[in-house]
Amino acid sequence: AHLDRIDAVDGAVHAFLHVDRDGALLQAAASDERRERDEARGPLDGVPIAVKDVLTTRGLPTTCGSKILEGWIPPYDATVVERLRAAGLPILGKTNMDEFAMGSSTEHSAYGPTRNPWDLDRIPGGSGGGSAAAVAAFEAPLAVGTDTGGSIRQPGAVTGTVGVKPTYGGVSRYGLVALANSLDQAGPVTRTVLDAAMLHDVIGGHDLRDSTSIKTEWPSFTEAARHGATGDMTGVKVGVITELAGDGWQAGVMNRFNESVELLVQAGAEVVEVSCPSFVHALAAYYLILPAEASSNLAKFDAMRFGLRVTPEGNPSAEEVMRATRDAGFGDEVKRRIILGTYALSSGYYDAYYGQAQKIRTLISRDFDAAFAQVDVLVSPTAPTAAFRIGEKLDDPMAMYLNDLATIPANLAGVPGISVPSGLVDEEPLPAGFQVLAPALADDRVYRVGAALE
Ligand code: GLN
Repeated sequence: AHLDRIDAVDGAVHAFLHVDRDGALLQAAASDERRERDEARGPLDGVPIAVKDVLTTRGLPTTCGSKILEGWIPPYDATVVERLRAAGLPILGKTNMDEFAMGSSTEHSAYGPTRNPWDLDRIPGGSGGGSAAAVAAFEAPLAVGTDTGGSIRQPGAVTGTVGVKPTYGGVSRYGLVALANSLDQAGPVTRTVLDAAMLHDVIGGHDLRDSTSIKTEWPSFTEAARHGATGDMTGVKVGVITELAGDGWQAGVMNRFNESVELLVQAGAEVVEVSCPSFVHALAAYYLILPAEASSNLAKFDAMRFGLRVTPEGNPSAEEVMRATRDAGFGDEVKRRIILGTYALSSGYYDAYYGQAQKIRTLISRDFDAAFAQVDVLVSPTAPTAAFRIGEKLDDPMAMYLNDLATIPANLAGVPGISVPSGLVDEEPLPAGFQVLAPALADDRVYRVGAALE
């Protein structure tokens, strides 16, 4: 049914870069056989899923939305993908994304934009717009995304879906093609909080192949979501972040946010306002740290090891092949960030830029520590606006970056966050998102509070 739905709507939505019809049907048949033989099956066995094209899939193309990886078929599965297969989830295909996960609109994909199912002239958010649009358009019941600065949560907000960025180290990064290693996390993209929790229980947990993976006993997130769904928030202390509201925030987004806060009060939560003064510098710090890490990560795309190779006329040197390949293979946003990152890391500027940004990162973590000493969870709107029009911010990188204002602090500090739908904004019939943040390791809290709002 989902493959049929993809056939019917994906020409317009363009959520997928690759659909694995045969593979998905084989995996679905295997799941049916397990059921017929009465074998032990996990709760998501047989439920199809879409995977963001930044996670490696054995035998299936993985492009990261870039021309430079066109034609590359990874010889191995990311741990997340391996766990999906082991749990019996048929993989429908790979979803569209901003090139190397750089962007907030999926317009930076080298394979053309994804469109928002709510309004095809609008963006589905980014970088994981493909995963969010696939779920919003009922092409897939579940998807996996990755969130480095908001790429799961912001697409969730603007497509009316649920998106979770787990605690840094909660889900393995093995096989996640790195954008910024110290910020990247894979996580669920779903239509309900319970679905997200069940998916997190499948993909999360310690992995020896990721040195930053946390070794701990995680609680059942499914249980946390079920607990939250009872709607009882008695004893839960909620902090509204002062700095993530005000000028520049769309009125309809703020109205839906305030209503959701009111719902939590009615459910018995205690709500206070909490100031996180360093958050105003988060965007500036992020857009130095991310390009710095990305410029280093992208050096491996050198025309020798993966995908595209452009060979200039004559008898070119290896360096000339490399230059021609990178020039043809990378898009403008990727080049912009490589230049920014290389500059920020260069000797003489390192202390002034990268060093300063790292100090801000520490201040942001301290703001979170101080806030979580007073409250159990922090809340804000997920993004300052509803979905904007395709093309509207494409020529203005700063305007595009500003969309990440509310999502970036969680990545800088490594804490978990969820975006749940908070209703449609008044100005247009477009969804807005409500963000819940919790201390590192306390992902169960975002599921509990998120589920209470459904
Ligand atoms: N929009 C942010 C950026 O462009 C977030 C990216 C992400 O989370 N992958 O960097």
